Amino acid sequence: MQLSGQQYQIQGLNVLDICQQFGTPLYVYDADVIIRQINNLKSAFNTVPLRIKFACKALTNISVLKLMQTQGIGIDAVSVAEARQALLAGFKPKDITFTSNGVDFSEIQEAVELGVSINVDNLPTLELFGKIFGNTVPCCIRLKPNIRAGGNAKIQVGHEHSKFGIPLAQLPDVHTLVTKYNIVINGLHIHTGSDILDPEAFIQGANVLFTVAKEFPDLAFIDFGGGFKVGYKKGDKTTNMPDLGEKLSAAFKEFCKDYGRELEMWFEPGKYLVSECGVLFVKANQVKQTPSITFVQVNSGLNHLIRPMMYDAYHEIVNVSNPAGELKTYDVVGYICETDTLGSDRQLNEVRADDVLALLNAGAYGFTMSSQYNARFRPAEVLVYKGEARLIRERETMEDILRNQILLDF
Ligand SMILES: *Cc1c(COP(=O)(O)O)cnc(C)c1O
Repeated sequence: MQLSGQQYQIQGLNVLDICQQFGTPLYVYDADVIIRQINNLKSAFNTVPLRIKFACKALTNISVLKLMQTQGIGIDAVSVAEARQALLAGFKPKDITFTSNGVDFSEIQEAVELGVSINVDNLPTLELFGKIFGNTVPCCIRLKPNIRAGGNAKIQVGHEHSKFGIPLAQLPDVHTLVTKYNIVINGLHIHTGSDILDPEAFIQGANVLFTVAKEFPDLAFIDFGGGFKVGYKKGDKTTNMPDLGEKLSAAFKEFCKDYGRELEMWFEPGKYLVSECGVLFVKANQVKQTPSITFVQVNSGLNHLIRPMMYDAYHEIVNVSNPAGELKTYDVVGYICETDTLGSDRQLNEVRADDVLALLNAGAYGFTMSSQYNARFRPAEVLVYKGEARLIRERETMEDILRNQILLDF
């Protein structure tokens, strides 16, 4: 979204017109930004055989997935239903990875039947996998590199006490199972967390994988996970992709020489591809003056964007209806009956009732983490593609609230 004169625009369209047409609250995604991010990643790693697998839990709308598909990237799914959505969007099974985490084995069997590639993250599952599939279906294993990296304790998932991945100390057990059942390990995987700024954290993880990889002769790829840092606040530092690309590619080439074969380098970015593309537009219902704080009460809340309340995440907020208004200080709060703060102590251009506010960088983990809490409808979603705003999900209605409920006859 850019300010052009006195108007906020997405691909030249006035965002107020988009909100007028589709109503608020509304998620709007800019396809150009998604494509730009994909290309940034591709060009940072253009000297190695790169495969990008979009971690689609960040934004699963099937039209967004289809857009990703047209850009030649794959999908990292964390449930079979996500994998099925990707298939529906046009992905081939071979371009989808199912990164399971503590799932019932039937879900892995279902994924194998769909033909998607499998990532296993615990020993009991690896044993069952071996027993049932032997050497007929390869699998990747997720390791826990004992690295603490990431923006917030809740999104650090590679450290010693994290539930994710097989601890390095259990590698001997992995080998025992691999030998016993003849399992073909075609990849090694780590994902250390989200909002990782320091290229060193990736290099450190890579070095762990390079060492372990020498014990697995059948590898086709190494998967370095996701977690690149994006900017939420003005002036926030972000992962320096060209720098990371240069350092990691060099290390990877060195490793491949040692390994004796050229492997593929995989990444599974979520946020990096879709955070910046998305804006959540909400309407100011009232401006409520109190002796200490001026609240802007909006027609949305943690039911539509839970990141501020769940992760203390910061989303920049802009009054798109009054770009020239005098700057004043507000707390922007939602309508959910809980403490429901979207942003506190924010300088906004003066807010009046019915103004439209934009919550920026809301493309990742926005809609996908939304709920019907307080019996509120989930917002509609719009994709701006080639200068045209297209509806890609209808706003929910009362029918959606009642769907699957059963009224007993007492
Ligand atoms: C969530 C997740 C990602 C994406 O993380 P981002 O911080 O959004 O890049 C990648 N891989 C796995 C296994 C994940 O669970």
